[in-house]
Amino acid sequence: MITAPLPPEALARYPGLERLGRTTTRLHPRPGAVTPADSHVGGPLRWPADEPWPTCDVPYMVHEEVPIPADLATRMRTAERGRTRANVLTDDELDLHREIAALVGPGFSGWGSRNDGPLFGHRYVPRPHPVPNPMVALAQLRAADIPDLPRPGGADLLQVLWCPFEHSEAPWGPTVRLRWRREAELTDLLAEPPRGEVGTDRYVPRPCRLHPEQVVEYPYPDELPDDLRRLVDEDDDEDDEEADEEAEEEAEEEAADYVATFMAPGWKVGGYANWSLTDPRPTPCPRCAGPTTLTLVVDSWERGAARWQPPPSDGDPDEATGVVVGRHGALRVFACLSCPDVPFLLDQQ
Ligand SMILES: [Zn+2]
Ligand SMILES: [Zn+2]
Repeated sequence: MITAPLPPEALARYPGLERLGRTTTRLHPRPGAVTPADSHVGGPLRWPADEPWPTCDVPYMVHEEVPIPADLATRMRTAERGRTRANVLTDDELDLHREIAALVGPGFSGWGSRNDGPLFGHRYVPRPHPVPNPMVALAQLRAADIPDLPRPGGADLLQVLWCPFEHSEAPWGPTVRLRWRREAELTDLLAEPPRGEVGTDRYVPRPCRLHPEQVVEYPYPDELPDDLRRLVDEDDDEDDEEADEEAEEEAEEEAADYVATFMAPGWKVGGYANWSLTDPRPTPCPRCAGPTTLTLVVDSWERGAARWQPPPSDGDPDEATGVVVGRHGALRVFACLSCPDVPFLLDQQ
């Protein structure tokens, strides 16, 4: 798992970009045997025996089906036949839609039937965990293995846990807990952590060894100085215009795609955040409102431009951890390294 070097012509295209480079450690999780002593995803944590295991008491979202009475379903079918254009609802349908929404109640998300069976309305409603839910160990990261791991207060170990449900609070996915520790202080360890309920299988990571690799990456275009950003915009426009011209050199095409060339996909620690989905959002510390540091990216895959692609012999890196965030997105943890208790905020792309 070695990232191909940045082609020299790629940097030459953007004068001054070089000095904005920042290191990040790509984690390259791959299924394998892990122990509490390792850095890993989905393995056992070195957890102090006398410290309570974190639990979650944030309500989670459940999908419910509400039967639609037969007469309402019949009226709906009749109204459907009044359509003059297949994709435009009739006024009667709109009225019935409102009627169904009122019947299904808060959290209404639509209706439908399976195999022409009875009609059901769908809703998502918050439900509290019956008891505070023991969290799942997501990752254990040692500064000794991961050069870009922040070390607030001299910590050299970060443990990340989450509750494997879709929750009713932003950013809607798992709730997350961080523990910053000093390895030397960990002596008497918990043998068997409690097991909690699982709402979403794709939030339960498969045990993976890490193969950390430090690389340099560059800011998201919107975070570049104006002159460089203009240059990136021009290249992207050019790229769009030339999209039809098959003759375009492959290497040139790759260089023109700034984000794919300069930003690392996949699980990583440190570096820059990719804001392709929402455009940059402020990430102030929830406590002091000061700046935060991108601490961890939990990604659904390692897909990117050719230089980031692991060798085919490496198995399918997209399936390595089994973790899929949102709609194949990434969860990013931004931590405040100035506040003593290291508050953090989550962003999902
Ligand atoms: Zn929860
Ligand atoms: Zn702070």
